[in-house]
Amino acid sequence: MNGIRSIFTRNFNWCSRKSNNNSSFSGRLKRNVRNIIIVGIIGVGTYHGYRKYHRYQWINAVNDLNENLGRKPRLIVLGTGWGSVSLLKHIDTSKYEVICISPRNYFLMTPLLPSVSVGTIETRTVIESIRSLIGPHIQFLEANCFNVDINSKTISCKTNNESNQSTFNLNYDILIVGIGSENNTFNTPGVEQYAHFLKEIPDARRIRAKISDAFEFAMIPTQTIEEKKRLLQFIIVGGG
Ligand SMILES: Cc1cc2nc3c(=O)[nH]c(=O)nc-3n(C[C@H](O)[C@H](O)[C@H](O)COP(=O)(O)OP(=O)(O)OC[C@H]3O[C@@H](n4cnc5c(N)ncnc54)[C@H](O)[C@@H]3O)c2cc1C
Repeated sequence: MNGIRSIFTRNFNWCSRKSNNNSSFSGRLKRNVRNIIIVGIIGVGTYHGYRKYHRYQWINAVNDLNENLGRKPRLIVLGTGWGSVSLLKHIDTSKYEVICISPRNYFLMTPLLPSVSVGTIETRTVIESIRSLIGPHIQFLEANCFNVDINSKTISCKTNNESNQSTFNLNYDILIVGIGSENNTFNTPGVEQYAHFLKEIPDARRIRAKISDAFEFAMIPTQTIEEKKRLLQFIIVGGG
């Protein structure tokens, strides 16, 4: 104990005015460098310890999932939007084997999406990894559900991988459908072809690029005043 105390007194007494006055500059420099190294080692150690613990938790949870396969009723949740995520955060995983399926492996904070489209905030700020939200006791599969057979209690899904698409079936005991809705054009002619929707991250990115392009193009010296006015005219439909 005395040894530890003396290490700390030796390393951290540079804070005290008395010791500062008595020691040389090179002595203080050496001690400061030593302190930085000690703090660095403790920091790196803690970080690696935490990562190991986190990994261990996930491995345990996956083992748990495999062991409990078929022992608990299987509850499948479709979607990673507002509805599904609020359910997933409160479900008791000791009672159900929970599987979440969605083509989107992140939760999107939709009220902030317009700010992404005008560059006030970055994409990373409005999304959260679904796995870190639901934790290790719920399995997540990135796929689109395209069929539900309520007689055999089976869903059919297609993986979301563009280069290597495959399909799979899963049985369920309870199915929660939280797949949201599609944009409605109310059959207004031209909307599909010429307008931008604002519902998902790719929509916001597309709008941002389009606005930026319009400003840059309007700056080109050969542009006429009329063309500049046309380029810098934006029409927003909907006031939600
Ligand atoms: C720009 C914007 C701003 C908004 N602002 C507000 C606001 O301020 N306040 C407010 O109350 N509401 C707001 N809303 C509305 C709100 O976001 C929606 O009401 C809400 O997202 C609906 O939740 P949901 O869970 O039903 O669907 P969503 O949140 O749309 O989630 C649907 C999920 O299902 C997944 N999915 C889709 N198809 C499939 C499939 N075939 N198989 C599996 N998964 C699938 C999707 O990938 C997604 O993860 C806003 C919406 C937008 C677009």
